[in-house]
Amino acid sequence: MNPLQTKTSGAASPIVVPRPGHSISRSDIDKDALKVLYRLHRHGHIAYLVGGGVRDLLLGRKPKDFDISTSAHPHEIKKLFANCRLIGRRFRLAHIYFSGNKIIEVSTFRTNSELDLDDGPIRSDNTFGTPAEDSFRRDFTVNALFYNISDFTVIDFVNGLDDLHDHIIRIIGDPFVRFTEDPIRMLRGVRFAALLDFTLDRSSQKAIRSMKDQIWQGATPRILEEIFRMFGRGKGSNAFALLRKLGLMETIFPEVYHHVAEEGPDEYMGILSRLDASFHRGKELTLSLILSTIFYPLCRRETASDPRGDKIQIVREILTPLTDRIQVPKRVQDTMRQSIAAQTRLFGIKNRKFRPRTILRKSYFPDAMELFELSAGGDAEGKKLITEWKKMGSNFSRNHVADTQKPRKRGRRDPTKRKNRPS
Ligand code: ATP
Ligand code: MG
Repeated sequence: MNPLQTKTSGAASPIVVPRPGHSISRSDIDKDALKVLYRLHRHGHIAYLVGGGVRDLLLGRKPKDFDISTSAHPHEIKKLFANCRLIGRRFRLAHIYFSGNKIIEVSTFRTNSELDLDDGPIRSDNTFGTPAEDSFRRDFTVNALFYNISDFTVIDFVNGLDDLHDHIIRIIGDPFVRFTEDPIRMLRGVRFAALLDFTLDRSSQKAIRSMKDQIWQGATPRILEEIFRMFGRGKGSNAFALLRKLGLMETIFPEVYHHVAEEGPDEYMGILSRLDASFHRGKELTLSLILSTIFYPLCRRETASDPRGDKIQIVREILTPLTDRIQVPKRVQDTMRQSIAAQTRLFGIKNRKFRPRTILRKSYFPDAMELFELSAGGDAEGKKLITEWKKMGSNFSRNHVADTQKPRKRGRRDPTKRKNRPS
């Protein structure tokens, strides 16, 4: 324990770290989130910054969002903020709107889990709780830390600070119970471990291995959302390795799991590390690109083993079970199918029969090119092809723009010119 930390007395006595003992500075907190915290505090309510915001600030990372928890009840929050809407059915959560489409989420301390916020069946009552209860209902210890705006202390009921220090993602309570309550927590655990380069605690690992098939008891859109968040932030290769290790890959994408078991993980690790690198260069990764990357090596093997076959048809047969299982929107499935099927043609630039212009004018060309940069970018030969295609792509779009700007040949003539025409 840090010498500046104090342990308060009481049944659930937290460790309280005063301002000099931690690294959270108000200048790193979003200014609108600060406004909300101060306003709640001025009106006599407890107001804490919570969740990923506190965790990331303590780690010196930039938080994705700043969530707030308070002792104020939803109707009290609504009264304090004109720009506030209450959402959710039973458990009313407050969304406070700011310029630039920013939303600060404010929830009242409660005893029960997040689940009532979902579209699924309501499983427990809407019970408001104490800060301690609110901390214990959270998923992992590093996600259960509070930053108190009244005295700038960090409050820790669950030993999250020690775990943060030791780089451990530890479930709060019994993992079997917590994963049964909400199976999506298994994926959240993988996501946080992968993104932060932390280790998932042993008991959670053991629980996941034995109850991985229960993941389907969670809402499928949440599974898809977790996969998107897990692979979309520059640590996809970590996530892939951990999903495999814990058996979740076998449950969610068995086709990929078996392919890796037969041929090894190298091709997957290569393409995923290029996906991660492109995120770190500032690219925003779409769901279609992420999933195409994960499924590409499997599709490549099948299309290569049937060189004369209809690529779209082969890719469709491989993708459909994978994407239907996690309910990928049809529009995303279409983009994935076209970009994956186009890869053989992009690799075949030297093929004499192939006319590059046909693919350059396709609406799916930019998506196919994004995937090609990942699929071909692993060696010097592939990098040369990428450069060639990029050059052709930019020439094509320049000419295409020039074409569309030329005066129209047909249509009404300029009446003034008509007069001067020789008869
Ligand atoms: P991110 O950086 O991805 O936003 P986060 O930790 O903020 O990570 P959120 O999904 O935004 O994660 O959730 C905010 C907080 O709500 C979490 O830190 C956690 O304390 C709590 N929480 C979210 N989902 C659950 C869940 N399924 N079970 C228990 N607590 C949860
Ligand atoms: Mg968050």
